[in-house]
Amino acid sequence: MSDLILFWHRRDLRISDNLGLAAAWQRTSKVIGVFCLDDGILRRNDVASARVAYLIGCLRALQQRYIEAGSQLLIIHADPQVGLPKLADALGALAVYWNRDVEPYSRSRDRAVAAALKEKGIEIRIKTWDQLLHAPGDIQTSSGSPYTVYTPFWRNWSRQTKADPAAQLETLQGLSAPEWEQAENAGVIPLPDAKDLGFTWSNELPLLPGEKAAQAQLSRFCEAFIQAYDIQRNVPSAPGTSLLSPALKFGAIGIRKVWAATVEAMEHTRSDEARVGINTWRQELAWREFYQHVMYFFPDLAEGPYRQPLKAFPWDNDKDRFQAWSQGKTGYPIVDAAMRQLNQTGWMHNRCRMIVASFLTKDLIIDWRWGERYFMQTLVDGDLSANNGGWQWSASSGMDPKPLRIFNPASQAKKFDPDADYIRQWLPEIRSLDTAMLVTGKIPEDECDRCNYPTPIVDHKKQQAIFKERYRLQKAAVTQ
Ligand SMILES: Cc1cc2nc3c(=O)[nH]c(=O)nc-3n(C[C@H](O)[C@H](O)[C@H](O)COP(=O)(O)OP(=O)(O)OC[C@H]3O[C@@H](n4cnc5c(N)ncnc54)[C@H](O)[C@@H]3O)c2cc1C
Repeated sequence: MSDLILFWHRRDLRISDNLGLAAAWQRTSKVIGVFCLDDGILRRNDVASARVAYLIGCLRALQQRYIEAGSQLLIIHADPQVGLPKLADALGALAVYWNRDVEPYSRSRDRAVAAALKEKGIEIRIKTWDQLLHAPGDIQTSSGSPYTVYTPFWRNWSRQTKADPAAQLETLQGLSAPEWEQAENAGVIPLPDAKDLGFTWSNELPLLPGEKAAQAQLSRFCEAFIQAYDIQRNVPSAPGTSLLSPALKFGAIGIRKVWAATVEAMEHTRSDEARVGINTWRQELAWREFYQHVMYFFPDLAEGPYRQPLKAFPWDNDKDRFQAWSQGKTGYPIVDAAMRQLNQTGWMHNRCRMIVASFLTKDLIIDWRWGERYFMQTLVDGDLSANNGGWQWSASSGMDPKPLRIFNPASQAKKFDPDADYIRQWLPEIRSLDTAMLVTGKIPEDECDRCNYPTPIVDHKKQQAIFKERYRLQKAAVTQ
């Protein structure tokens, strides 16, 4: 048997600051990367074209990075449980390494792959928690249980020392010619385009794919925006957030590098305001980790509500209203602008994600899982833990201790888009109307007709009252 190690990339599509890959390289320089196009994921009904386009772009960039390092990234399109042992066997690999994941599907798939590899006598190593600064279980309450509330999690998480970026890889050794033939026989294919896999995305992506683009974006954000993040992050028309979510989802950037950039930013500022900005951004990184930790410890979250009153909630689930929401045609300008941004770019500003999620659940009284699925079908950064966490938070079904949170779309627009810049950007048909009309959503019917824009499909006040009453009844029923 050779000393070849196969490194299985999943949501760590980069060479630098990759803990599992660095561990493989510390053992041998003969490391080859592999990515498995898994129909168990690609054929689900919640896969976004933008996300697949970003993924394929990242894989293309990663192939290039492997070539620059002296090795290769092989692509297979197979059930990983079958394809990986077949490839490892054909190449005579000593071991297969990969980084761990929190998602229920990944965890059961990984167990099956590990068993299949072991059966062939191939070593595995899967100890590394690359995608997180702190592994699940490392941040616990004083009684040793996982946190279910964010604020104490953040206090504990932020106090812990963070690891430095993983060792820099120097040179790798790729395959020689006869081994290439073996690889091809074992199912290695050229990297397909997203459209070859059935996903068409022709719009620009919010972030260019790949490690170098993510690194450049992090530098740009830390130079120009992080210091004002606390103020700018809630303004959807401003370029105030990092746009790194797809890179963090697919690991085009290492989380330790991201943290190190915040440390550097802290060291280079003397302004208290800037420090607040940097710290607030760190809190977002902690939200990301919080949701991944809770998904790890409470995998049932992926299936449905955490809180009792929402478990059998009498949702209206009106299909026409859902359609209007998803197309950005509800007659509520801030909601519609946000949904159009999502549909056209594959990304939506965080403030607007909260607004549209509240509107779907509390105003349209539609099961949050419909919205969760729609987001997964459209988001370039769609991620089970963050998306489920965001939806359960908005629907009042999650772990959040403040259950009944209802956003008033007009108040939100007034506060966060007071000049209607964001609304005008995404709703060209009503761009010329008065700012007050756009912000409050009080657009006269004849203006709506003239602009071919819908009148409101529901009345916020009435719907809010209905939701509250149903919630009260549900709560009373479960506490009886
Ligand atoms: C209903 C709903 C659904 C969401 N679905 C997703 C999703 O599928 N994928 C996703 O990455 N984020 C999701 N979020 C969280 C958040 O909206 C996005 O992470 C953020 O808008 C991405 O933009 P950014 O990279 O510019 O973020 P920044 O403001 O620059 O934040 C930096 C990073 O922190 C993380 N982050 C920020 N806010 C949150 C949060 N509330 N929860 C978890 N992580 C966070 C992201 O990785 C983000 O890239 C959702 C939020 C809501 C309310």
